[in-house]
Amino acid sequence: MQLLQGETKEGANVSEGNGTRHLTIAEFAARSAGRADEYHRYQIDTNVTKDVQPLPNRFIVKVGKVGLAKFLIKETFQYWGKWDVIMSRPCTYGVFSGPVGGFNPRPKLCVGCLRCTVQHPEFTTIAPNPARAALGDDYVTHLHISAIDEEASKGTIPVRGQGYRGKFGGAGWEGMFTDMSEIVRPSRDGIHGRELIGTSVDLGSKPMSLEFDDSGVLTEPGPQMVTIQVPFIFDAPPASIATPKLHRIYTKTAADIETLVALPADVVRSEGLASPEVVPIIPLTAVATAAGFGNGTRIIELDGWDASLYKEATSTAPHLLIGVRMPFATGWQQQLLEVQAAGVPIIHLIADHHGLGEDGGFVMDTLREAHMLLIDAGVRDAVTLLGSGGIIAADHLPKAIICGLDAVALDLPLLFALQARARGDLSDRERTAIRMPRRFSEKWAVSRLTNLAASWRDQLLEILGAMGIREVRRLRGEMGRGMWQTDLEAEAFAGIEGFPGGGA
Ligand code: SF4
Repeated sequence: MQLLQGETKEGANVSEGNGTRHLTIAEFAARSAGRADEYHRYQIDTNVTKDVQPLPNRFIVKVGKVGLAKFLIKETFQYWGKWDVIMSRPCTYGVFSGPVGGFNPRPKLCVGCLRCTVQHPEFTTIAPNPARAALGDDYVTHLHISAIDEEASKGTIPVRGQGYRGKFGGAGWEGMFTDMSEIVRPSRDGIHGRELIGTSVDLGSKPMSLEFDDSGVLTEPGPQMVTIQVPFIFDAPPASIATPKLHRIYTKTAADIETLVALPADVVRSEGLASPEVVPIIPLTAVATAAGFGNGTRIIELDGWDASLYKEATSTAPHLLIGVRMPFATGWQQQLLEVQAAGVPIIHLIADHHGLGEDGGFVMDTLREAHMLLIDAGVRDAVTLLGSGGIIAADHLPKAIICGLDAVALDLPLLFALQARARGDLSDRERTAIRMPRRFSEKWAVSRLTNLAASWRDQLLEILGAMGIREVRRLRGEMGRGMWQTDLEAEAFAGIEGFPGGGA
C-alpha cells in the first residue's frame, strides 16, 4: 500500500493493484496500524542471573568478640527492646545482622565503607581479601573480572555511587580518555528510548564510489554487507576448554542478540552448528571446503593469509563474504594493505589477550595505525576491521571503535561472564589456564552472556549519548573524540624541567 498525493482531512488515496482507492480516515488508520505495529526497536531483554561460582568476597571482616560483647551490653541498655537495632550495629549493610549478629559476620555483604572501623577501631578490622585480588593477572585485573561478573549477573551498568575512585591515566586503555563535551540530543533521550541511537554495524565491503552506465544502472556490484545489531561478535573459546555445550551457548546467545559467533570449521561441521549467525573459521589447508556449510551461512573466515588460497576460496564460495584472520605479526602493516588490495571484505586483526602484537605494540596504537593506513590508501570503506584481544571492559569497546575498528570480537569477557577462573599469565590465546565452573546449565549461561551484551550495549549508548552521536557507525575512527594521556601531558608539561624532553 503506497500513499499517494491527495491525502485529505476526509481520508487518503492509496494505490491498490492496478488502480487507486479512496480510504476514509478510519480505514486508513486501521491499515497503517498494522504497519506501525510491525516496527521493532532493538533491545536486549535481561534477567537477573545468580552466580553458580561466586567470586571470593571483596573484604575480610574481623571482629573482636570481647570488644563486640562490651559494645552490645552498652547498646542493650541504651536501646532496650529494639533488638533489630542492637543486632545490626555497627553496619548498615547487614554484615552484623545475621542470626548471631557480629559474632558471625557476613563478609559477602561488606562494601568496604569502613564506617565500622572508624567508629569501632578497637574491635573491627576490614582488609582486602587476597583471594579476590589474586584473580586475573596484571592486565586482566580482579576489578575487570568483578565488573564483568556483575554485568553478567544483573545485565545493568555497574554503578558504585561514589564517583570514580581509580587513577586518571595509566597503561593500556587507561591512557585514553573520551571527549564527552557534546551534551546535546540525542543524549538522555537516546538512552531512555525516546530517540534512537543505533548500535548496529555492517560487516563487509562498500564500494568507495558508485558508477552508473548511460541508462543509470550501477555498473559495479553494490555493497556486500551483513548487518549485526551490536558492534561486537563472539570469538571462538580456547580449544583447551571448548566443548559442544559451550559452542551451543555461544551460538544461541549470538542468535538471540542478532550478532555472530566465530567457531572452528570442524566444530561447526561435526556439531551441526552451521547457521546465519555462525562464522566458520577455516584453516588454510581446507579452503576447498569453504562452500560446504550451508544452512544460511553468510560469512566465513580464513585462518591466515595466502593470496592464492584466498582466490581459491572466493571461486569455491562466491556467495559468501570471506574474511581473513590476521595476527599482529611483525610486518603486519604491509600484509594488511596486501590483504585489502586482494579484495578481502573483512579483516580480523588478532592481538594476544593483553592486546599486544608480536612486536610488542598495544592495540590502542596498532588499531589507529591500521585505520590510518587504509585511509591513506583511500580504501577504508572497502573493508571492515574486526579486532580481538585486549578488550576486556565495557569502555574498551568504544575506545577500540574510536581507534578504527568497525566491531570487536569478544574473547575473555565471555568466559569471565560464565564465571570461569583463570590462573597465571593470561596473555597466550591458547595456553591460558582457564577452568569453567563444574556445573552450569545452558539456560543459565545464555542468560549470563545476554546480560553482559546488554550491559556493554547500554554503556556504549551512554558514551554515544554523551558525545551526541546518533549511531556507532559514526564513532569508527572518530579520533577527535579521543584524548591520549601522553599527548595531554606533552602539551601541558613540555618545556618544564624534569618532564621527559622538557627543559634542563
Ligand atoms: S566496612 Fe562498612 S560495609 Fe563493611 S562491615 Fe564495616 S560498616 Fe559494614
